[in-house]
Amino acid sequence: MSDPVLSLSGIYKAYNKGKPGEVAVLKGVDLAITPGEVVALVAPSGAGKSTLLHIAGLLDTADTGDVAIGGAVMSGRSDRKRTEARRRDVGFVYQFHHLLPEFSALENIVLPQLANGVAQAAAEARARDLLTRVGIDHRADHRPAALSGGEQQRVAVCRALANKPKLLLADEPTGNLDPATSDRVFDALMVLTRETGLAALIATHNLELAGRMDRVLHLQDGRLV
Ligand code: ADP
Repeated sequence: MSDPVLSLSGIYKAYNKGKPGEVAVLKGVDLAITPGEVVALVAPSGAGKSTLLHIAGLLDTADTGDVAIGGAVMSGRSDRKRTEARRRDVGFVYQFHHLLPEFSALENIVLPQLANGVAQAAAEARARDLLTRVGIDHRADHRPAALSGGEQQRVAVCRALANKPKLLLADEPTGNLDPATSDRVFDALMVLTRETGLAALIATHNLELAGRMDRVLHLQDGRLV
């Protein structure tokens, strides 16, 4: 069997450790996501979804426990190694699109590829292909302000996948959208994850969307059930 794309074992995380305001957020999280698997992470606000996604995506470190991406254990690696792994292997989508306002939709998908050493022509071709697959290639030259919320978020999904990551992490990617738009963004996300065989962990409040993923995990009292 191939290695899990993401493996978390025994993850503990508390904020304000040892101080009066200490909050234990994650209390022994174990998780393995295999290639091609799309997993929903469901929990009420404040339960620790963002904390878990940040640790899985190497943006934050756990107090104890191991994070492995593509079989490579990241705990204890230098910041430089973790940043390299994050840039190469992980794509993020947030609740708000965080697109660069001065650049077109296409350029927002091209720039992270240039930063990764991809040549301009190849980066543009990939960006156009991604935009076509999510049905908004006709919006390629528009800046984010000229796009609808759903279109902005579909561009953000394309940007997250621009560098062909192994793992997609999404934090309430449709949380800011009306139900019809939310469906369209989710469809785009599923089309791209299915086509690329990448693994995804998607935090959502939306149980209907969660039900369309391969597996639904609930974060309850610091553990996944
Ligand atoms: P969710 O994404 O499920 O809403 P978070 O992971 O953002 O939850 O937060 C989980 C808990 O940790 C919350 O009680 C939050 O207030 C607390 N928390 C998050 N980040 C910090 C921080 N940097 N310092 C202190 N407490 C934090």
